[in-house]
Amino acid sequence: LEKKFPVYGAFGKLFGSKGQVHAVTDVSFSLYEGETYGLVGESGSGKSTTGRALLGLSPATSGEVRYRGQDITHLSERELRSIRKEIQFVFQDPYASLNPRKRIGDILREPLDIHQIGSSSERIEQVYQMLKTVGLQPEHAYRYSHEFSGGQRQRLGLARALILNPQILICDEPVSALDVSIQSQILNMLKRLQREFQLTMLFITHDISVVRHISDRIGIMYLGRIVEEAHTDELFANPLHPYTKALLSSVP
Ligand code: ATP
Ligand code: MG
Repeated sequence: LEKKFPVYGAFGKLFGSKGQVHAVTDVSFSLYEGETYGLVGESGSGKSTTGRALLGLSPATSGEVRYRGQDITHLSERELRSIRKEIQFVFQDPYASLNPRKRIGDILREPLDIHQIGSSSERIEQVYQMLKTVGLQPEHAYRYSHEFSGGQRQRLGLARALILNPQILICDEPVSALDVSIQSQILNMLKRLQREFQLTMLFITHDISVVRHISDRIGIMYLGRIVEEAHTDELFANPLHPYTKALLSSVP
């Protein structure tokens, strides 16, 4: 079961000095090996908190998160290191993972250096290959992040996440800041890469139409809870929760 569900979480998350903010309440979910799971909900419903808790970026305050059977809820930074290699994040704002003072090539190379993967020349070759994989060119390795467009930066954020060949990819609103035409380019690329890298993907968005065509399953978050979860077609054909119904009635 643990192998079939590499990620399993049942947890809650409180914020505030007295724990007065219930960001996430009794969330319980699993990711199947190789699936794309769309986590959908309105602003403030707890999507990012859930995603961050999965990697101990902001650990759960109750319950547990398991990765391949191991309880990773409260690991130290050092203990998380090997897991961070396998679970990578892509954020809405790729600036978060792209140091403006470093050339792109050095940014992409850094994780390979940290984890001592390959020889020096192999690392450089891998950086060039990864730039091609996300639709950019080897020459781009010598530029800085501010010299790219928003869509290109999102490709770079993806390159940064994929360079370590992760098993799990958590994408938090990766296309929300982009034009609709660029959104679909990035989504198509994500779908292709998901197959190519056999990724298990958690895709977080407030816009259900964004994940409709790439998700195997969708979970609906509302006021800090997952109120409904189903296969994508089933959810669209037969929504059960009132919030899901309201959400779908606004989709063209
Ligand atoms: P959005 O679509 O706007 O990104 P979200 O679904 O990702 O929203 P979260 O960021 O998970 O929502 O926030 C859930 C709740 O937890 C919100 O009420 C938010 O104000 C609160 N919250 C999140 N982070 C913190 C924090 N560091 N300190 C206090 N409250 C927080
Ligand atoms: Mg969020």
